[in-house]
Amino acid sequence: MSARVIDGNALAAKVRGEIAARAAALGGRGEQPGLAVVLIGNNPASAVYVRNKVAACEKAGIRSLKLEYPADVAPAVVMAKLAELNADATVHGILVQLPLPPQFDEGAVLEAISVAKDVDGFHAENVGRLSQGQEAFLPCTPHGVMRMFEAEGVSLSGAEAVVIGRSNIVGKPMAMLLTQAGATVTVCHSRTRDLAFHTRRADILVAAIGKPRFVTADMVKPGATVIDVGINRLPDGKLCGDVDFAGVSEVAGLITPVPGGVGPMTITMLLENTVISAERVARARQV
Ligand code: NDP
Repeated sequence: MSARVIDGNALAAKVRGEIAARAAALGGRGEQPGLAVVLIGNNPASAVYVRNKVAACEKAGIRSLKLEYPADVAPAVVMAKLAELNADATVHGILVQLPLPPQFDEGAVLEAISVAKDVDGFHAENVGRLSQGQEAFLPCTPHGVMRMFEAEGVSLSGAEAVVIGRSNIVGKPMAMLLTQAGATVTVCHSRTRDLAFHTRRADILVAAIGKPRFVTADMVKPGATVIDVGINRLPDGKLCGDVDFAGVSEVAGLITPVPGGVGPMTITMLLENTVISAERVARARQV
């Protein structure tokens, strides 16, 4: 069997076209969406992510503001800037690129961002709202994956879903969204005793581990939908996912590639959240 490959670039381009139209409409009403991106330190991967996010904003008609700090910046300096951005009416979304240098308390930084501008969906209040099924900014990566399921007509209700990874930014929210969509969800991690036992039962398998080509064909149920969130850089400089694409695509029914799968949808959801935030402000101004 050869799996159908989900084209994340094509889906992202379609959704970004819709987002650009919404951003233009907002601009016409005097509320041009704006995203502030805070980058601390010199992690090369973070620098690439921030560059991609800023470029995507520009293409979609979203104003972006990039704030860069050296790795040894005092947390108080960043906290003061976040307070300023929270109060800035031209900024609708604020993102602090993770990971942060060791002098920072990550939770405190994320909670210093106004809930209304938390377009990454990492603030504890947004996480709580998501867990209760209330309206919230959804974390971009798992939200992007849900949009892929929708676009591909993947049926989630009653499906066996296995998520490998339990991070706050991918694994946990992914499991919550799948649960809300009616899947029966198992979350696996480094302490899971027999990982392949779980993954072989999965109709939907999401890998968010950070280990190159970790999921192999023998771990996958024939016909399964396999979503590869991982982004790993190989010694030769090339990118690869957490799934052994060549082998697994012989077994799976549907699969995402790396690059060109989940990554472009993550940035797209960030743009969408920023536009949603600006739309809320524009609506509130009218009433
Ligand atoms: P984390 O390192 O925070 O989490 C990794 C998870 O994988 C942990 O829960 C860990 O378990 C689990 N894990 C590690 N080793 C094993 C193992 N041998 N067996 C089973 N589980 C294991 O990573 P993130 O969630 O932040 O990111 C995961 C991957 O996704 C990375 O490659 C990252 O670059 C990528 N990523 C991609 C994005 C995109 O847009 N496509 C966005 C965000 C991330 P434990 O908790 O027990 O340690």
